[in-house]
Amino acid sequence: LVTVVGSVNRDLVLTVPALPGRGETVLARHFTEGIGGKGANQAVAAARLGSRVRLVARVGADAAAILDALAVEGVDIGAVSPDERATTGIAAVVVDERGENTIVVNLGANAGLAVQDLPSRLVRSPGEVVLVQNEIPPDVVEQAVLRAREQGGVVVLNPAPARPADTRALAAVDVLVPNLGELAALLGTDRPATVEDARALLGRVALPCRAVVVTLGADGAVLKEADSATTTHIPAPVVDAVDTVGAGDTFCGALADALGRGTGLRSAVRRAVRAASLATTGFGAQTAMPYAAQLDVPALP
Ligand code: ADP
Repeated sequence: LVTVVGSVNRDLVLTVPALPGRGETVLARHFTEGIGGKGANQAVAAARLGSRVRLVARVGADAAAILDALAVEGVDIGAVSPDERATTGIAAVVVDERGENTIVVNLGANAGLAVQDLPSRLVRSPGEVVLVQNEIPPDVVEQAVLRAREQGGVVVLNPAPARPADTRALAAVDVLVPNLGELAALLGTDRPATVEDARALLGRVALPCRAVVVTLGADGAVLKEADSATTTHIPAPVVDAVDTVGAGDTFCGALADALGRGTGLRSAVRRAVRAASLATTGFGAQTAMPYAAQLDVPALP
């Protein structure tokens, strides 16, 4: 079982020729509405790869269709609490022709997720993965991480969006998965410009978690384990990326899926890189998330 503690959003996705500048209005070429939120996305990514997945989240009274769709994906929604006084979180996503995006999120019901909503047993048997992101209140993130560690879980934290991290909670994290911007924010440094800069930065600083996996977009990911002096670069396959929305979420979901099966960290990162790269070859956060069969074929693009 993979337990995901995180957000659920309605994604309003607008495709534009070029991202609007300040004060500018542009006409969208295409509009779709879908399910998003880092929690829901990562849960679906792990479920598509075959894991049993349970989601702990809060939604508004308007979420019936979203919950149905999550259940169809095989995600256990028993711990998703409806909050009648709130609206489900919304993400307004603007994507340009090159697949670059700008996103504005209204947290909505996600902001009401509370420590009391966490199941007392977050981990039912040792080695189960608990996957958490920062689109929910900080005290819930901290409590989920600490409780999962105490119960013998493998704790994966995707610190997105970036915010100052509680050191005690960080020390309970097994695998921290920031992108380059989030890594820079966590460390209070400039965003590394190259893969080599990212490796050098990771080599220099000590984060209290067992391992850090930094995602690098088209450059793949870099892995640094606390007990090793070296970093490992895992390049991404060259793909025709049309939309990177949801790439990071696919990465985290795939990583959780692999770790939950007892896959070693390095192999798990390799699989996550491949899954995330495949997810960039189609539009939308969830539409292009791969199924296990797509990853298990030996020859990939
Ligand atoms: P985020 O979307 O959270 O900012 P990244 O941009 O680092 O995260 O992307 C996460 C993962 O998605 C990468 O590690 C890589 O596997 C894959 N990915 C993203 N963009 C591309 C791309 N242009 N080509 C191939 N893979 C990509």
